[in-house]
Parts: sequence; C-alpha cells; structure tokens
Amino acid sequence: MADYDVAIIGGGAAGLTLTHRLRGVNDRRGRPLRVALLEPPPGPHTPVPRTWCFWEPPGGTWDHLLAARWEDLSVVTADATHRSEAAPYVYKMLRSADVDSYVRESAGEHVDQLCSLVTGVRDGADRAVVETGGGTLSASWVFDTRPSEPPPGRTRLLQHFRGWFVRTRVDAFDPGAAVLMDLRPPQPENGVAFGYVLPLSRREALVEYTEFGREALTTAEYERALEDYCGLLGLPGVEVTAAEQGVIPMTDARFSTRAGRRVFRLGTAGGATRPSTGYTFSGVQRQAAAVAGALERGRVPVPPVPHRRRHLVMDAIMLRALDTGRVRGAEFFGGLFAANRFGDVLAFLDGGSRLPRELAMGLTTPVAAMALTTADQAWYRLSRGRA
Ligand SMILES: Cc1cc2nc3c(=O)[nH]c(=O)nc-3n(C[C@H](O)[C@H](O)[C@H](O)COP(=O)(O)OP(=O)(O)OC[C@H]3O[C@@H](n4cnc5c(N)ncnc54)[C@H](O)[C@@H]3O)c2cc1C
Repeated sequence: MADYDVAIIGGGAAGLTLTHRLRGVNDRRGRPLRVALLEPPPGPHTPVPRTWCFWEPPGGTWDHLLAARWEDLSVVTADATHRSEAAPYVYKMLRSADVDSYVRESAGEHVDQLCSLVTGVRDGADRAVVETGGGTLSASWVFDTRPSEPPPGRTRLLQHFRGWFVRTRVDAFDPGAAVLMDLRPPQPENGVAFGYVLPLSRREALVEYTEFGREALTTAEYERALEDYCGLLGLPGVEVTAAEQGVIPMTDARFSTRAGRRVFRLGTAGGATRPSTGYTFSGVQRQAAAVAGALERGRVPVPPVPHRRRHLVMDAIMLRALDTGRVRGAEFFGGLFAANRFGDVLAFLDGGSRLPRELAMGLTTPVAAMALTTADQAWYRLSRGRA
C-alpha cells in the first residue's frame, strides 16, 4: 500500500490551494512532504469549470494567473449608482482551469496526482487509509474536500446563479470597472435578487443573475432573468459564448473541520464559505495557509473554520432577517454600500474589520428589524441551550 504524509481528496479550490501551499514544506527530517492529490476521472462527481472571484490587497499568490482585476466597483440601486474605489483591495477573477493547470504543472515530484474516485476513508491512531476504486493508500493526514451536506442549522438559504460570458459588437464595458451588485432586477418576496457585470475586455464580460433564497430556479428561468438583465443594461441581443451556473449553500450551521484523529474537512465541506456572501475562495486560502504552517511546525494540522465567531453570529442574524422577510434584501445591501466606504464593507465581508467599525456599519442597516432578529436569534440559542 502506497504511503504518504498527506492525502488530499479532491482537486477543486481547496485541494489545489493546499497542494500549492505544501510546495517547499518539509517533514522533520528535512525531506519534502510526500503528497497524494486524488481527483476522480471526469464524470458525475467532478464540478464544471468555474470562475473564482475574491478581493485582497494588491499582490497575491495567484496574481500571475488572474483572468481579470478591477479597482473600481459599483453597486446599483433603484435610485442611484454608488461607485467607489475597491481600495485597499483589488477585486480579482481566476478561472478554475488556469489554477488547475498551474498547480498540477508546478507540483513537483513529491506530489502524486492520482486519477481516482475515493470510496471511503478510515481513520486510525497513526495513519488513515483512503480507499479508491483502484486500491488503497495510507497517509499521516487526510484532507477531505468532497462536497457534503452541510450540518443542520436554523436558517439555510441558497445563493443560486447563472452567468453568461457575453461578447458585444461594439465597445460596451470598462475593463477596469466592475458592477459588484445591481439591485434593480425584480425582487423576490424573501431574500434578494441582483445582477452583476465583470468586464473581461471592452467587448467581453461575465454577466450574472443571482438570488439568495430558499430554492434555485430552472435553467429556463435563469435564462429569462439574464435576458431581462441584459435588456436593463442596454445590451439586447448579445452573443453568449459560455455560461456558468451554481448553487452555494448559505447557512448558520456550525461546521467542524475535524472528521477524525487523522482526517480533516477542508474547503466548502470545512465551513470555508462565508454565510452572508457565499464567497469561499479567500476562506480556503486562510485554511490552506494554516494547514501548511502547522505541518511545517510539526503540529496537528487541524484546519480552522476561517471566519471569526462574531462574524458568523452577525451573518446568522442577517440570513434570518432575510429569510423571515423582516429585511428587504435590496434595501439592506443597497443601504450598506450607499452609507459606507466600499473598502470597509469589503473588509467586513471578508473578516478583516474591527468591532467599532462593524457596529457603526450595523447602524446603516434597517436597525429595528435587525434588533428584533438579534433578540429572536439570542432567544433561539438560549432555548436550545436549555433543551
Ligand atoms: C459556479 C460556481 C462559481 C463560484 N464562484 C465563486 C467565486 O467567484 N468566489 C468564491 O469565493 N466562491 C465561489 N464559488 C464557491 C466556491 O468557491 C467553489 O464552489 C469552490 O470550488 C469550492 O471549493 P472546494 O474545494 O471546497 O470544492 P470543489 O471545488 O467543488 O472541489 C471538490 C473536489 O472534490 C472532488 N471529488 C468529489 N467527489 C470525489 C470523490 N469521491 N473522490 C475524489 N474526489 C472527489 C471533485 O471532483 C472536486 O474537484 C463558486 C461556486 C460555484 C458552484
């Protein structure tokens, strides 16, 4: 049976990031860690190629692979366009296929890239065993990124979306400026609907229609919403060159990254998704960095849930307020971006803000509805604690 220091199950955002992070990490004897990266052959388990957007200060691990970057952002409401610099951040887009090729090509000899469907994982005191269609392997540490049902929570919404890569015949976009949220599409009863526009050149962009709600739409419904949204943008009859579609669970469930003594969950399965936004990629970066750091120091490499506890509490309140309809999503997000510096809002949404600023920002949301939902959440937690 082949034996590794680290086995990574799944070559998506989390698996690829961790593989990349482990370059140059040695074991206690100074030898590069032996890593197995397991990804099944193309089929029902493999996700379709996608784009990963995130924001971070200028410079960054993936900068040389970026498909696009924007320093100028807008949020559009029914009454106004709020335009701002993204500073101190840059909003960035990666294509999953580019990350995949780069990580795999630069992985080095100490990484075995195995094309195998994992069928089981057995934890052990000293080693864990990974079972695949083609045999078994053992590893000191296993990081499992396979998608799994999130643990039960009180509120569960879906961020569901479809995007079109569009091409126009004449210049229609500013490649340095992205529309982060356009709240003008018709709003659902509960939750929120918005479009966004991420230009790739003067004549190409990713135009997406997104909802936060309980149920995803059919492809035909997304197509209609996208046609309407392109009409709203003054882009009727654009050429659609490709599409991406997805669903990201937004939940107040508490995730655990520890699945055994030697087995851990990472990525979406390990709570990397920020509940209030669905953004996952930057949480994955923090988890992978923490794991690599722990392995370097010879510690037990338990991935952190990469969000602060107080942010998860705030997100749970926001999700509840949206789901109960106490807060109208367009009003909430429009008000937040209208009344605050974009950089501050982005800092909060990615865990980089401080409490005083967060409290001040809280006052720019519908205060009565949020206070009522805070009390409702506190009572729920208290009563569950007592049960
Ligand atoms: C279309 C789409 C767009 C998104 N865009 C963004 C974005 O812009 N920004 C952002 O922050 N987040 C985004 N997300 C959310 C999140 O970042 C992505 O879903 C991301 O790919 C999650 O990474 P992951 O590694 O946890 O899971 P995945 O990337 O889904 O990787 C899981 C891997 O496990 C493999 N696997 C599954 N079963 C097995 C098995 N039995 N054995 C071995 N391997 C297996 C799969 O093949 C896959 O490669 C998006 C999600 C979707 C669906």
